Parts: sequence; C-alpha cells; structure tokens
Amino acid sequence: VHIFNEIEPFRAFLRSLRNVGKTIGFVPTMGALHEGHLELIKQSKSENAVTVCSIFVNPAQFNNPTDLAKYPRTIEGDTSLLKSVGCDVLFLPAVSEMYPSSEALTFNLGALDNILEGEFRPGHFSGVALVVSKLFNIVHPTRAYFGQKDFQQVMVIKKLVNDLNFDLNIVVVPTVRENDGLAMSSRNLRLNPENRKKALLLYQSLQEAKALLLHGKNFSEVKKIIQSKFKSTDVRLEYFELCEAENLKSLNSVDANTKAVLLVAAYVGEVRLIDNMLIHEN
Ligand code: AMP
Repeated sequence: VHIFNEIEPFRAFLRSLRNVGKTIGFVPTMGALHEGHLELIKQSKSENAVTVCSIFVNPAQFNNPTDLAKYPRTIEGDTSLLKSVGCDVLFLPAVSEMYPSSEALTFNLGALDNILEGEFRPGHFSGVALVVSKLFNIVHPTRAYFGQKDFQQVMVIKKLVNDLNFDLNIVVVPTVRENDGLAMSSRNLRLNPENRKKALLLYQSLQEAKALLLHGKNFSEVKKIIQSKFKSTDVRLEYFELCEAENLKSLNSVDANTKAVLLVAAYVGEVRLIDNMLIHEN
C-alpha cells in the first residue's frame, strides 16, 4: 500500500495514473476498518484499475465532542487489513492538512438536513459534505463507494454530486452485518460485552417492524410496538421511522409500488448506533 499524508504528492501520484488512463475507485472512511469497509474496497477493486482508501476522522462532522474524542483509532490494524485486500493507496492526512484555516465552509443541504440524522446531529451533514467535496477534488475518482448502512448520507452525497456537478459515479454497497445481524460499525468497538448484546435490538426491531408492515399493519401501530420494546430496555431510542427510500418522506404504510425504508438510531450506553432496512429488496 502506498501511503500519503500530504495532499500535493498524493495528487501528483494520482494525476500520473489518470494520465495513463487508469480508472480510480475511491473509498472514504474514518478508519477502525471492518468487513463493511473491506466490502467497499473489494467492490472498488473489481471495477477500477486503482483503489484508493482514505482514513480521516473528520472533526467537521462530529456534533458531539465526546464522540469525536472516543472515536476508535486503529491505524496499524487498518493498514494490514488494507494490505490483505490489496488496496493500492491509502490517504492518511492530519487534521491540519485538511483544515489549515480555522473557519470552515458550511453547507445547507435543505430538507435532508432537518430530518432523522440531520435533526439529531445538527451540522453533521454539512461536515460530511465539506470533507467529501474536498476529498473528491483531491482524488478525482472515477467511482466512489459508500455503504447503505449510512442511508441518509448516501442521499446527501448524491445531492452533492448532482448539484455541484462532480464528474464521478457513486456506487452504493449493501450493509455488511455480524452473524447475529448487528450492522458492522466502527463504533461497535466501544460496546462492552453486555451492551454488544443489547445493540442487537436495533436490527431485531427493524426486522420485526418490517414483518408487521408486510402483514398490513400501519406504521403508527408498528411504531408504538417498537417504542414499547425499547422502553422495556435501557437502549434509548432516538428515532424509528418509515420513509420513502427515494426522498425520505414519511410513510404510514407500505405497498408494492413505493420503495420504503425503515431507519433507526439509538443509544446503547453512551454509544450512538444507526441502522436501516429496505422493505422490498430489489
Ligand atoms: P465510516 O468509516 O463509518 O465513515 O464509513 C466509511 C464508509 O463505509 C461509509 O460509506 C459507510 O457507509 C461504509 N460502511 C460502514 N459500515 C458499513 C457496513 N456495515 N456495511 C457496508 N458499508 C459500511
């Protein structure tokens, strides 16, 4: 793996590859890599001549300072995982390299910013949009890979690429789960064994809600059932919603013609986890 810490030599290296016609697949991450990240890398490898991964814990997207301070950092393990899957290039910038000036640009993402993650993490998507725009301008990838695990983030990125005319393709990769169903996440490393068990409630609630909806129950009834399930535990539900998968507008029932998605966020101890599930996979 070629490792770059600075933007200019990294750019020059990628420019030389583009100049000889190589396609570049790009996988932006915040590190503490797991099978979910590796799936993105593997897909990129299968579709591009060169695969670039970035690891940057982006301060601009953290609305909670404790979450930023406690975000897992496992760079040595990450590097050997990247080697094991044959990732070609790693970009590992310091905060001062990405944000040399203190006043950062902000983005107003419109309606997407006021619901779900946007509502509960003010400023989060602005920070995501900023770092992803910077990384796209640094890397100039042919394709960039994002996980469905962060469903709303994918919509933000697609809006960014569309509205700012970035010349690249976004590829979305299905959520990779642990054997028991828990969505893989770097934040799972912060769960003690007891909380690791409790965290399964997110996946179980999505599955249960999906089954009830497909049996014709309205979402308002389903939501009450799920809320009471959470109330009987100490997993603190932040939101549990049924939305149109295309635009995240609220839905109260499912039908065969509308692509729908369930989205959940909850605190297990002090660790905030999210997950989602499409109602009709296709
Ligand atoms: P992160 O390091 O959490 O910012 O994630 C980097 C990328 O990996 C994002 O596009 C995530 O959506 C994706 N990702 C994280 N967890 C998973 C997972 N369990 N399955 C698939 N993709 C994932």
